[in-house]
Amino acid sequence: MRPAPRMFTRQDLGEGAYALSSEQARYLGRVLRLGPGADIRLFNGRQGEWVYRLARIDGRGGEAMPVEQRRLQAEPSGKPVLLFAPLKRGPTELIAQKATEMGAVRLQPVITSRTNRDQVRIDRLHTIAVEAAEQCERLSVPDIAEPVPLDDGLRTVESYVFCDEAGDQPNEPWGGEMGRAGLADRVFGEVSASPDAVLVGPEGGFTPDERARLRADPRALPISLGPRILRAETAALVALTLWQVRFGDLA
Ligand code: SAM
Repeated sequence: MRPAPRMFTRQDLGEGAYALSSEQARYLGRVLRLGPGADIRLFNGRQGEWVYRLARIDGRGGEAMPVEQRRLQAEPSGKPVLLFAPLKRGPTELIAQKATEMGAVRLQPVITSRTNRDQVRIDRLHTIAVEAAEQCERLSVPDIAEPVPLDDGLRTVESYVFCDEAGDQPNEPWGGEMGRAGLADRVFGEVSASPDAVLVGPEGGFTPDERARLRADPRALPISLGPRILRAETAALVALTLWQVRFGDLA
């Protein structure tokens, strides 16, 4: 039997009838062909997950009544935050989906020297994040922030993993071998407190000047993601996974 569908809402849960939006009613009624008596699961990022039972539903809306709270809301940890340079539409939307699945609490686009996009469709990325949260059984949806200059983005966190794909010789391909950052397993093994965020650069990478400043930043934890140069959207997913394995819910 198919599990009750999950839907995100901003409304409070557990008290009184829940009014379905027309969009929700269309999805539940027309797509899933559910009617009165069917259960749905609602979550709002604050009160865990509740089972509601459809009382009335039609093409314009409907109503559901609370049955029970199925899952408690864990205390928000506030991390990891993903600091990333906006990419073309497809890869940016992929980052929104995969970062949600990997437990990012906030997506903070940062504008670096080589970032080729300074705008993101917040509403579209939020919709993608909601769908990903509903599908992966998360109890929250990451915040999607407006893009800010790199330094402003870094100021929103106390510490961050700096995914540095290169060495310290700017005239060498990918910065050469000198000063290459350590691999996550070793670097993370040397820290006790979990970094607040992971930082991934744009398609064109960080400039030598940006890299020098980031490497000199005491709040940064530079790591290499291995010998291959990953696409930014791949690097974001890998970095969040490594973070969860060492500091989060994959540990
Ligand atoms: N530096 C290359 C360039 O100039 O085209 C590639 C940048 S890469 C496509 C985008 C971002 O992903 C990098 O800035 C870095 O943050 C991250 N990244 C990719 N591969 C990586 C690796 N092997 N180690 C660490 N970070 C990596």
